[in-house]
Amino acid sequence: MLDVDRVRADFPILGTKVNGRSLVYFDNSATAQKPVQVMDAVREAYMVHNSNIHRGVHHLSDVMSGLYEDARNKVAKFINAREEEVLFTAGTTQGINMLAACLAESEIGKGDVVLLSEMEHHSNIIPWQMACAKVGASIRVLPIKDDGSISIDGLSDILDEKVKLLAISQVSNVLGMVNPIKKITQACHENGTLVMVDGAQSVPHLKTDVKELDCDFLVFSGHKLHAETGIGVLFGKKDLLEELPPTQGGGGMVDKVTMTSSTYAEVPQRFESGTPNYVGAISLAAAIDYMMSLGMDDIIEHEKVLNGEMMRSLGRIEGVTVYGDGAERCPIYSFNIRGLHPYDIGQILDKMGIAVRTGNHCAQPLMARLGISGTVRASLSFYNTVEEISDFIDGLEKAVSILE
Ligand code: PMP
Repeated sequence: MLDVDRVRADFPILGTKVNGRSLVYFDNSATAQKPVQVMDAVREAYMVHNSNIHRGVHHLSDVMSGLYEDARNKVAKFINAREEEVLFTAGTTQGINMLAACLAESEIGKGDVVLLSEMEHHSNIIPWQMACAKVGASIRVLPIKDDGSISIDGLSDILDEKVKLLAISQVSNVLGMVNPIKKITQACHENGTLVMVDGAQSVPHLKTDVKELDCDFLVFSGHKLHAETGIGVLFGKKDLLEELPPTQGGGGMVDKVTMTSSTYAEVPQRFESGTPNYVGAISLAAAIDYMMSLGMDDIIEHEKVLNGEMMRSLGRIEGVTVYGDGAERCPIYSFNIRGLHPYDIGQILDKMGIAVRTGNHCAQPLMARLGISGTVRASLSFYNTVEEISDFIDGLEKAVSILE
């Protein structure tokens, strides 16, 4: 089992006092805290190795280029991909925008359809709207059931020859439930439809295996995985990436350049124009090393304990509705309490040093589907404890008594 006290010692920020109370950080879906191991790796990168990559013959450039490619290799192993299938991006949003722009130049054309589930984050909606508008394609919606789940039969009914791509989160940042991606990719591939998985909320909590999922593309953000902001990953199957046209030109992505035309470098460099966030990539490798040192099995086991405790405790609060009701879930809980505004609850919790998020969580279509304007969201990580859940529930009960 995870030694949570020892783990917490690696995250100095968790010792912060807020309004005179010990911080309870339950906003991990927005961004996760960083262990000293990640901060040390960043510091060392700047103190000892800093140099631009891939362009120099000198020692430092060579070392930094090696570290950057080692980071790619580490990410590839973490998600069971090949090294050349891992592209570094600035984060989930940029990865989806880049993919949507590339596909709009190639796979998605006039009259085609992009299928989006009803639970998507705005970052997995708007880039596709833009891409569709550009080429004359349209968006189709994959509805969710009342319990927040996806129906595979419903998916099969909605697929036809026009649907070129399904973009879907593995775990919604509101519902926390794990979508059956393997079954979804199977149904889509039978129809010749590509699948892009938004792994922003799943990669930090699950063992990710792109071969097992058989997804064509997967995106995620480093900052939700305990690395720095400004770094993320776009995984793509090699044969697909090789067919995609790059949409951003510049240094580092070319082979031969004349004033009127150019040929491009191989995948993945073809998609990484300009100076990449190489220190961010090092931070991501350090975060992955850290999580592997704890062990994903132990992380998952501990989060299961937190899940059980959260479900039991929230269920005891009078008038509570928790959105998303799956057996397999990540520790992300969105809820409302009858008659109370989420924002008011969030403010009172903050007075007690408890950080939650309130609002629509960048998922307005999902809010519309649920018939609400917002929720309170408590999102946990492996460094959170059962005692913190108890403080949170005490805080909620206090909020209810004040607001009622
Ligand atoms: N998709 C999901 C499911 C998310 O939760 C988020 C972040 N809240 C994003 C996409 C966007 O991630 P980022 O802001 O790191 O680009």
